[in-house]
Amino acid sequence: MLMRICRWHGCNKLVSHEEVYCDKHKQMYIEYKHKQHKARDNMIRHDKDEYKLKKFYKSIPWIRCRLSVIRRCMYMDILELYNTGRIVEGYTVHHIIELRDDWTKRLDIDNLIYLTESNHRKVHTLYDKDKETKLKTQRMLIEIIKKFKTDYSIQS
Ligand SMILES: [Zn+2]
Ligand SMILES: [Zn+2]
Repeated sequence: MLMRICRWHGCNKLVSHEEVYCDKHKQMYIEYKHKQHKARDNMIRHDKDEYKLKKFYKSIPWIRCRLSVIRRCMYMDILELYNTGRIVEGYTVHHIIELRDDWTKRLDIDNLIYLTESNHRKVHTLYDKDKETKLKTQRMLIEIIKKFKTDYSIQS
């Protein structure tokens, strides 16, 4: 039978000439290819998500929705208002339930809150801590919106 040497770098095993790798390295090659595919799929998925988000933040419905949120919050960071009593202008409209967790809440005004940059950062730090802290923070923000709506008799 015609034989050849396994093509795996550093392997000297003889294999049938129809094969490229010995059994062990054939398995390793398949695993390597599989991992490569998975990495590429993840990259494509990541790029698609980025594109979707970019497009969303430029869309007219979002720009309109963002403005309604800011107006409803009376241009203030209402988290700051209830935490410290200070009236500070917000900077970022934050999705309480994040876009990647629930895309259907992307334009839900009750899922949006206007925050200063520093409070926005603080909120995301809490989100990143662990699942429980994230849930607690989200519930707290939703309560603040409810309280604000009641306190200022906001209907919508
Ligand atoms: Zn080999
Ligand atoms: Zn945010």
